[in-house]
Amino acid sequence: MPGSQQLRKTGIMASERTYLDYNASAPLLEAVRCAMIAAFDLPGNASSVHAEGRAARSLISRAREDVAALCSTLPAHVIFTSGATEAASLVLNPDFHMGRTPMKVSRLFVGAAEHPAILSGGRFPVEMVSVVPVDQNGRLDLAALRKSVASHDSSSGQFMLALQLANNETGVVQPVREAADIAHDAGGIVAIDAVQGAGRLPLSLEALGADFLILSSHKIGGPKGVGALVSAGEILMPAPLIRGGGQEKGHRAGTENLAGIAGFGVAARHALEKLARIDVIAERREGMETHMREMAPDIIIHGVDAPRLANTSYFSLPGLKAETAQIGFDMEGVAVSSGSACSSGKVGASHVLAAMGADTTLGAIRVSMGYETSDEDITAFLKAFERLNARRISRLADERAA
Ligand code: PLP
Repeated sequence: MPGSQQLRKTGIMASERTYLDYNASAPLLEAVRCAMIAAFDLPGNASSVHAEGRAARSLISRAREDVAALCSTLPAHVIFTSGATEAASLVLNPDFHMGRTPMKVSRLFVGAAEHPAILSGGRFPVEMVSVVPVDQNGRLDLAALRKSVASHDSSSGQFMLALQLANNETGVVQPVREAADIAHDAGGIVAIDAVQGAGRLPLSLEALGADFLILSSHKIGGPKGVGALVSAGEILMPAPLIRGGGQEKGHRAGTENLAGIAGFGVAARHALEKLARIDVIAERREGMETHMREMAPDIIIHGVDAPRLANTSYFSLPGLKAETAQIGFDMEGVAVSSGSACSSGKVGASHVLAAMGADTTLGAIRVSMGYETSDEDITAFLKAFERLNARRISRLADERAA
């Protein structure tokens, strides 16, 4: 079923709309909705020992297995949180434990193109956070990383590297394994923000060289407000962010969000199954970019020379402000984004473009698709693109003639 039709069926959108903003949030999958409704009807608290409590516990266990399978790890390594931002705040933390022994982390290195959840440094005070530059494609500068970690004074504590697997704006995939090896060789801890990679790239903590992975449910067709911190083992762990009852083995207290977790589990299972079809999305994106280039030979596609997620295209059109273009697309019935979705709804200059040394004055438009995106959705987008581009070209011609 084409994505937009599915959206109409679920009642999210009343009229003919084309939704191409999966990197901001993917539509809830039908199977997820069903699992959540079933979970809402369970009265028990997962910590209770009676049958109702055990039923709730078993839903959480199943979800834990599914999220673990998505990351090729053990269920015991999954800590459910209220989203990726909370998972980041849990792990980006100067206070760790190695078994029962407290351990200090005295510096956090983050990539310059990170999502604000990482760039803000979690629980590290700002003076403990150092930003590592990226190149013109937005990939981490490994030589700069090597230099930075070599200068770390380990007498004050260890360091941590926090890096995204793929960028939410450009879709550019980071050299995570290489960066993790550099960090580990220098004695550091590695936390990978895999939010945009889930369901689009194979995830394995071991293959990525990650000590921790950060995940979010709503980017893979699960509900918003659920995520996970996944660890490589159970010995090296951050001090909890939320203390209280012993839920999540004491790593994250509070009665579990049963329906949210159940939905996340189903979304994770689907994400893993669908990965085999990622080439279909890649072909659709390639076809779309070929058409855009034909219509607008001066188009700038950001990160095009680097490995990118199959589902993302991030572009600027000379003479057309991204903000204006986004409104134009919206009026044409097409939901795309300019930069990242901002909590306040305001559109600021993209720090990702700035980090890449690109011109930030025009901004950029992001098209991001999912497995539900159809050829009809891309056709609708290209029709809107053609009209907006024609207006741009005639305005540029008028300006030149004036
Ligand atoms: N990291 C990346 C790369 C993201 O794209 C996002 C959301 O846009 C987050 C972290 C934060 O995720 P959440 O909405 O679950 O807090």
